[in-house]
Amino acid sequence: MVVFSHGRATPDASEHMGKTKGSSIRAGLEWYATTRGREAMRALATELPAEMHVELDPGALHLGVLASAWYDDDFLHWLCDRISDGLNPTARASLAARVSHATTRATLGGLYSVFFRAFVGPATYARRAQRLWDLYWDNGAYTVRETGQKRHEITVSHWQSHHPFVCEGLVGSSMAIYEAMGCKDVAVTRLACVSDGALACKLSVAWS
Ligand SMILES: [Zn+2]
Repeated sequence: MVVFSHGRATPDASEHMGKTKGSSIRAGLEWYATTRGREAMRALATELPAEMHVELDPGALHLGVLASAWYDDDFLHWLCDRISDGLNPTARASLAARVSHATTRATLGGLYSVFFRAFVGPATYARRAQRLWDLYWDNGAYTVRETGQKRHEITVSHWQSHHPFVCEGLVGSSMAIYEAMGCKDVAVTRLACVSDGALACKLSVAWS
């Protein structure tokens, strides 16, 4: 069941599922509607599980997702499974990167632009990255470590909201973040993932 709350989600010991901010889900749905067209969006709305209709509205724009609300991850995970259904691993990773890149760019350039201006460059970002992460997720420890000249390693642990598609999307979202800080030729590589048995998900980022 989708549990929905305004403002920051409050921890609930009885609930193990993480929550995702509506801002990114909404931006992802905008991307989907723009790239796939109205018919695909209508099909998505038609297939929205009935138990999710309580807080969502399949007849409304962007399924009624509000940017300021937090949504239980069963909704996000359903969306991920639905839009990546039938894709081979390469195509799925490519789609995840593209939608996350577009979603992150849209939110950093829009809703979170004032906040993001505080991240004047990669060094500042490395120190404060958790603060940006917390705008999108109500769980997960996000650390950025400098590993060389214009090289960072990102580690995400204790991420209850983890889903393979969303984790693959970190490639696109990381790229959008570094590009927004003015980095050129940004290259992101996934190093480890809890889906493969690792203790945490890791990525490397390089730029010129
Ligand atoms: Zn992962």
